[in-house]
Amino acid sequence: MKNITILALLVAMLLPVKVMAMDEMAYTPQATTFSVVTLGNAKGVSLRLYNEGQGGAPVQVVAMKSKRMKDGNRRWTATVKGDQKGKFYTFDVQNRDGRYQGETPGIWAKAVGVNGRRAAVIDLRDTDPQGWAADVRPAIAARDLVLYEMHHRDFSIDPSSGMQYKGKYLALTEPRAIEHLKALGVNAVHILPSFDYASVDETRLGEPQYNWGYDPVNYNVPEGGYSTNPYRPDVRINEFKQMVQALHRAGIKVILDVVYNHTFNIDGSNFQLTMPDYFFRKNADGSYSNGSGCGNETASERPLMRQYMIESALYWVNEYHIDGFRFDLMGVHDIATMNAIRKALPDDVFIYGEGWSAGGCAIPNDKLGMKSNVAQMPGIAAFSDDMRDGLRGPWDGDDKAAFLGRVKGNEESIKFGLAGGVAHPQVDLKKVNYSDVNWALQPTQMIAYVSCHDDMCLVDRLKASIPGLTTDELIRLDLLAQTVVMTSQGVPFMLSGEEMLRTKRGVHNSYNSPDSINHLDWNNLKRYPQVMDYYSRLIALRKAHPAFHLGDAQQVREHLEFLPGGDCLVAFVLKNHAGGDKWNNIYVAFNANRDSRTITVPAGKYTVVCSGGMIDENGMGTIGGGNVTVPAQSALIIHD
Ligand code: CA
Repeated sequence: MKNITILALLVAMLLPVKVMAMDEMAYTPQATTFSVVTLGNAKGVSLRLYNEGQGGAPVQVVAMKSKRMKDGNRRWTATVKGDQKGKFYTFDVQNRDGRYQGETPGIWAKAVGVNGRRAAVIDLRDTDPQGWAADVRPAIAARDLVLYEMHHRDFSIDPSSGMQYKGKYLALTEPRAIEHLKALGVNAVHILPSFDYASVDETRLGEPQYNWGYDPVNYNVPEGGYSTNPYRPDVRINEFKQMVQALHRAGIKVILDVVYNHTFNIDGSNFQLTMPDYFFRKNADGSYSNGSGCGNETASERPLMRQYMIESALYWVNEYHIDGFRFDLMGVHDIATMNAIRKALPDDVFIYGEGWSAGGCAIPNDKLGMKSNVAQMPGIAAFSDDMRDGLRGPWDGDDKAAFLGRVKGNEESIKFGLAGGVAHPQVDLKKVNYSDVNWALQPTQMIAYVSCHDDMCLVDRLKASIPGLTTDELIRLDLLAQTVVMTSQGVPFMLSGEEMLRTKRGVHNSYNSPDSINHLDWNNLKRYPQVMDYYSRLIALRKAHPAFHLGDAQQVREHLEFLPGGDCLVAFVLKNHAGGDKWNNIYVAFNANRDSRTITVPAGKYTVVCSGGMIDENGMGTIGGGNVTVPAQSALIIHD
């Protein structure tokens, strides 16, 4: 057996290393081979080598040689002898008309200099932190996930964070950060775009600059602005890995927000500089389609774009041990591509996305990764704006309230979300705000949430939509909202900072707002300790009880029964030890009214675990059956 293993290893070593189709740099100390794929009609490609990541003159210019590929495109290669580690490089593609497109690091740069203008020759193994080989993705099933969406700068930039590496990847390696996340109980952080993006100038990091980062430049390199030194190509890679490693050690997954649907611009994009007009969709009249709302949309249905997305996601999983992906505007990508990505990634890598676009796309909606098509994408989840807006109010007006603001008629949308978007005999789709189909085949295909980085955060929305709200009411409604989210059979998701009653001072779209708007104020943990206390107990309650995350549509239909409610009153029972729960029947009720309401439960003796804005899994006393009071603007959870 041992001999066979050694033999297999030897054979594997002798066979050529499988280079990914789009690899553009293969380093050894003896020589580095560069390669780039262009359209078949390109006339030439110049490779330029530099000592610096920006500025300076090339130290070497090489005319690359090409071979026509089976698909009609050309692959250009050049091998440069000697140890090139530390050099930077660009490609410059000569069009069929003889014109040079302009320098680009290529579409597959894995390391870059400052601002991502030039790619870098490095040995990726030099970037691995100590113990990296032993790092593994934490084993957490989709049904057990509790997602926490965060921006590096929001999280740690304020002095009150107490963190050393403010606004950096390394903040997430600090005990203060790790302990907070563990205390809260979330088990996956979803980081806003952390690939190299354009809108923060990495040469001016000493000045306050802020952006969410939805403007991709280099898809396969970490953003330099979150590193301690964007000039040194290895630093951002190493620090990103340190972040992943620290979170994994704490049992927390890392999910990447990916924005393959558009690039920062067209003409200056690496796509366009490499293969003009291949990667972008056009309208019939030749103009660029703009389904992203950002001036362009990529063409996922084209073979090389599809392959690019698959290989890019795989690369993040293999090289950075990423646990999942949130696809920005998934509704711009075609269904077949999303399914191909699902198939290519390991099963435990969680995939979800925005099931909408930001404008009309150049291919029909029934081919796109829209929310209504999620049933055609098994193993891929979408955000439920149904539940979100049923709770807080519609997307088209910050001053409009819904369930939380005592607007009746939103009960069915809440029920839809509680059932995880799957078909349920007691959910009447005709009364659900947006969806007229049960788009989720499984509850793990629905993301349950009330707020995210987009739009107002929860506190601001409550204030904007409910006039005359007192602080006491604000907190009650905030806790009520998250209790709906955390007792949904979907996958719960929360915006970072909600646990400390975050406010963005009423700013609706804070994508480039200053730190004073976007930062978390960690002092709020002391100001409103009851919020963090409630959130952490709520999440712990969910995690401890399989009934709240059955993970299977049939189980949901079998064990989740809605009870008669009323205006702004929704109630349900998770019955008969749902999911093997140690509790027999769990009654849950949400009352958004300003006075108490009652629900009716069978005779018996019940332990109260949540009432009036307090939670204790071990119980806060017992009550009898019959008419049970649900206090104003709060959730009630009891069990027998
Ligand atoms: Ca950047």
